[in-house]
Amino acid sequence: MSENGKVALVTGSSRGIGAELALRLAADGFKVVVNYAGSAGPAQQVADRIKEAGGAAIVAQADVADPAAVVALFDATEQAFGGVDVVVNCAGIMKLAKIAEFDDQTFDQTIAVNLKGTFNVCREAARRLRDGGRIINLSSSVIGVRLPTYGVYIATKAAVEGLTQVLAQELRGRGISVNAVAPGPVATALFLKDKSPELIERMAKMNPLERLGQPEDIARVVAFLAGPEGGWVNGQILRANGGMC
Ligand code: NDP
Repeated sequence: MSENGKVALVTGSSRGIGAELALRLAADGFKVVVNYAGSAGPAQQVADRIKEAGGAAIVAQADVADPAAVVALFDATEQAFGGVDVVVNCAGIMKLAKIAEFDDQTFDQTIAVNLKGTFNVCREAARRLRDGGRIINLSSSVIGVRLPTYGVYIATKAAVEGLTQVLAQELRGRGISVNAVAPGPVATALFLKDKSPELIERMAKMNPLERLGQPEDIARVVAFLAGPEGGWVNGQILRANGGMC
């Protein structure tokens, strides 16, 4: 690993897409902050793998839904590495039920993590990112397929896309790009949980490449946006879904 002198903070990087992203950004030379909410052990394992490969990483617990915890997360990042250049908003949850059956508590929880969490992190990133930085938010391609039971999840991700496009405009003059990546189904706990093998197979075939996305597929796209080759892409929603929609 050859260091690039930059620092990346990846929320929700104890598992799934975020963990793969943390490893990829470290391999690209970023010092990485591995954030988690509850999975301390897996987060530590991600950081250990980075350090064993010669990179630099710390773990930092913070529930992104809590604004004070997000401020503390940026404080910890600055204390450890002196600043922050790239922020990836990967923390997210997905609870599925028809709108008629969706309960208030699950609605509030989904909004708190996916929308308020992304807002909390974007606000702090807007205040503290070094010039030339990158903000990358995770949306979802399911917005385009309008699947029943995904209504509340889709509502949060549509809101994230709105925040992304406006923030890109608001950061004019600082050389900071703000984009969202919208994966199709990716083989992580978030997608696979509670689905039958038949449903997983059917959803894998929704795209013409006829397979599920893997965390590595998404990590490559985020690495492009975070790295020197992606600098001219700004205010965009990049749908990385094998051509599903
Ligand atoms: P996983 O469930 O595999 O991982 C979720 C990660 O988010 C974990 O590291 C988890 O940490 C963290 N997290 C959850 N809640 C919080 C919180 N309140 N504060 C901080 N961290 C939190 O999900 P994926 O990797 O699949 O998803 C990552 C992102 O990609 C999400 O935003 C998701 O909506 C999006 N996405 C995923 C798709 C898929 O098919 N997998 C498709 C399209 C978009 P901990 O374990 O510590 O709670």
